[in-house]
Amino acid sequence: MAKYGFIGLGIMGSAMAANLVKAGFGVTVWNRTPAKCTPLVELGASQAKSPREVATECEITFAILADPTAAREVFYGPEGVQAGIGDGRGYIDMSTVDSDTSAAIATAVEDAGGLFLEAPVSGTKKPAEDGTLIILAAGDRSLYDQAVPAFEKMGKLFPFLGKAGQGAHMKLVVNMIMGGMMTAFCEGLSLGQKSGLDGQQILEILMAGALANPMFGSKGTMILQQEFRTSFPLKHMQKDMRLAIALGDQLGQPLASAAAANETFKRARNLGFSEEDFAAVFKAIT
Ligand code: NAP
Repeated sequence: MAKYGFIGLGIMGSAMAANLVKAGFGVTVWNRTPAKCTPLVELGASQAKSPREVATECEITFAILADPTAAREVFYGPEGVQAGIGDGRGYIDMSTVDSDTSAAIATAVEDAGGLFLEAPVSGTKKPAEDGTLIILAAGDRSLYDQAVPAFEKMGKLFPFLGKAGQGAHMKLVVNMIMGGMMTAFCEGLSLGQKSGLDGQQILEILMAGALANPMFGSKGTMILQQEFRTSFPLKHMQKDMRLAIALGDQLGQPLASAAAANETFKRARNLGFSEEDFAAVFKAIT
């Protein structure tokens, strides 16, 4: 039986699965668009015909998919993970989804005799390549313990946060703050430039003071060069804002600035910037 399965070879999954293969683990991969499996197969992975086959053949199956719809389709679909999971095998969903999606999948995995962990990640394309993600795990503790050797190859920090749902909540908190920071940053940069300040100088001054952070550094450079090569797709950032705001609705938590930022990300999607990096929200602001 192959040690690990990996489903979803997008920007994040292809880099994360590659780190498992390079570490010498047996890895079986599946992706909706099969061509994305080829680089992994060239590295030494096996390619499965369906998510069901991956979950049947592997001790632990990881998935990192676009959104709740994708996570549900891959799990519940006719040739989905649900049809293959069981007998104490593990399913670890690393997609950023709402906690209801995660809880529904957790129950279905457990009903089938499998183990479930949610483990959304913080960090983008480069940390995924470098194996330095922050992995926000919650769910079955014994599966977490079994997965540590894989987490060590994909992440630099992998806290266990408790019952399924808490990983999803933590991830939404992180990204909601990030989305709000990004729109505030873009507004400031745009205001400064329109008032006659030099963009590079604005960035240098911000990065020298208490507001300095790696996101302003890397995304600020992208914005000044007007080069939005995708590391974290804008459509996924807007999805995360939407999910965080829905959680705020459920819990009665006012999220005034996040709601305003979400509107700006929606405008950016409508302007056609969905597939660009989320820093392209600047173009909807300036
Ligand atoms: P991505 O490049 O857009 O990849 C999305 C993956 O989901 C692809 O493998 C895609 O398959 C698959 N997919 C989409 N809809 C599907 C469906 N209906 N059925 C089956 N597969 C489907 O996204 P990503 O950037 O890797 O992000 C993946 C997840 O990680 C998202 O939840 C995102 O919010 C989260 N995340 C991303 C980053 C980042 O910086 N990129 C950072 C942290 C967390 P195809 O190849 O066939 O389209």
